Amino acid sequence: MPPELAFDARSSWKNHLGNQSIDPLRIYEPESLEQVAAIVGEAGRIGATARAVGSGHSWSDVALGEGFVILTGQLSRVPAAEPDFLRSDWADRHLVRAGVGVRIKELNAYLDEQGLALSNMGGYDHQTVAGVVSTSTHGSGITFGPLNDFVRSIDLVAGNGRVYRIERAGGPTDPAAYAAHHGNERILRQSDAMFDAVSVSMGCMGVLCTAMLEVEPKYFLKEVRTFHTWEQVRADLTDGEVLRRNRHYEVLFSPYRRKHAYPCLVTTRNYTESPERKALDKRMRNWAVELASAFPLTPHIINLLVDLKPSLCPFLLENAIRALIKDEYDEVSYKVLNIGAANVLPAYSAEIGVPMDGRHLEAVDRIIEVAAERRGLGEAYQSSPLSFRFVKGSPAYMSMMHGCDTMMIELIQLTASKAATSCSPPTSRRCTRSAAARTGGRSTR
Ligand SMILES: Cc1cc2nc3c(=O)[nH]c(=O)nc-3n(C[C@H](O)[C@H](O)[C@H](O)COP(=O)(O)OP(=O)(O)OC[C@H]3O[C@@H](n4cnc5c(N)ncnc54)[C@H](O)[C@@H]3O)c2cc1C
Repeated sequence: MPPELAFDARSSWKNHLGNQSIDPLRIYEPESLEQVAAIVGEAGRIGATARAVGSGHSWSDVALGEGFVILTGQLSRVPAAEPDFLRSDWADRHLVRAGVGVRIKELNAYLDEQGLALSNMGGYDHQTVAGVVSTSTHGSGITFGPLNDFVRSIDLVAGNGRVYRIERAGGPTDPAAYAAHHGNERILRQSDAMFDAVSVSMGCMGVLCTAMLEVEPKYFLKEVRTFHTWEQVRADLTDGEVLRRNRHYEVLFSPYRRKHAYPCLVTTRNYTESPERKALDKRMRNWAVELASAFPLTPHIINLLVDLKPSLCPFLLENAIRALIKDEYDEVSYKVLNIGAANVLPAYSAEIGVPMDGRHLEAVDRIIEVAAERRGLGEAYQSSPLSFRFVKGSPAYMSMMHGCDTMMIELIQLTASKAATSCSPPTSRRCTRSAAARTGGRSTR
C-alpha cells in the first residue's frame, strides 16, 4: 500500500439521517480508480471486506461495511478522467461518463451547461450516481426504467483490485482501442448477463468508479397536480390510458376514507416549451407548502399534533394532499422532477414493488384494510400520504423492477411520530427499497 493512501481507523460512518452507523476497520477516501484498486487489493490480502458508500441517503443498513469503507466524494469528476474509446456507431449519441461520487444535482448542473439533461430521475437529487445506480433508484413514468437502465458502461474494481469495464453486448467501447491502451491490466467485458449482474448490486459486486449515462437534449416539463378520489384514480389506472398518455403520472394517496372517499393527488408531468416568459407563479411550486416543509419546526408540530390526537391523521393527510394542488408549474426538467422541499422533512421511507400484472391495484385495497385494522387495534396511523409510481421493468437482476413493469408503493413515516410507530413492526418502515431488493425484492402485505 503506497504511504500516501492514508486511512482513518478511529472514525464511525453514519448515514445521512443518522439512523445507521458502523465502526469499520478503516475508512478511505480515494481520488482515482488506481487508488481504489490498491485499497481493494489490500483488503483482499488481509481478508477484509471492502464496501463503497455514496452520500448515505439509504435509510437501511445497505451501505454498512465492517471492513474497509470507501468514501467516493473524491471520485466526482464530470466528465470522468477515464477515456471512453467510443465505437464509431456510438459517436452521435448523447453520452456522459461521470465519476460515481458526483451528486445528481451536480450532474444536472453540468448537463444543463452542455444543453443536455437526464431522461428521468428520482424525486430527489442529493444522491450519488453510484448510489442511485446500485440501488435501482427510480422516478415515475411507465416508459422509463430505473436510473440504472440509462447506464451504458461501468468501470468497476472487483475482488483483489482487478479493474473491469463492463457493458452490454455491442456496448460503446471499441475493444481494440481499449486493449491497445490498457493491455492486460484491465478487462473489458461486453455481456448482457454480466452487466445485469453488476449494475444493481448494493455494493456487493465491487466498487463502481465511473458510469457512462445516456442522456438527452435539455427539455422543459409542465407539472399539474389535481385532487381526485381513489375511486376515480382506480378506474383510470385500470384502464391504463393515463399511464400511456402522460410522460410521468404518479399518485399521492390517503388510506383513510373522508366524506365517503379516499383522497388522492394526481401529478402529471409532460413536455412543454421553455417557460422563460411565464409569470413567476407558473414557474414555482406552491411557495407556502415549500416554506412550511423547509421550516425546521414543522415536523415537530406535526408530531406533537398526531401524538396528542392520533385520530387527526386522516384530516392532516387529506389537507397535506389538498395543499399540493397546483394547476401549472413549468420549469427545466430536473427542477420539476425533484419533488422539492418535502425531501427535507425528517422521515423514513420503505417501498413495496408490485408487478403490474392486472391485479396490482388489489395491493391498494389491502393497504386500506390494513390501515383500518391498525387504526382500530391501537390508534396507529400512517403519518404521511402514500405514493404510487409506475416504472418500466428493468433487466438488472437485483432491481425491484426486474423483469416486469412495477407499481412502486412508497410508505413514508415522519421519524418521531408515536401515533405511527406504536403498532407496527419497526422493520417495515426502516427497510428501504434497496434493502427489500437485496432480500429478494417484491412483497405485498
Ligand atoms: C430524501 C430522499 C429521497 C429519495 N427519493 C427517492 C426516489 O425518488 N426514488 C428512489 O428510488 N429512491 C429514492 N431515495 C433513495 C435513494 O435514492 C437511495 O437510497 C440511493 O441509494 C441513495 O444514494 P447514495 O449516494 O446516498 O447511496 P448510499 O446510501 O451511500 O449507498 C447505497 C448503496 O450503494 C452502494 N454504493 C454506493 N457507492 C458505490 C460505489 N461507488 N460502488 C459500488 N457500490 C456503491 C452502497 O454500498 C449501498 O449498498 C431517496 C432517499 C432520500 C433520503
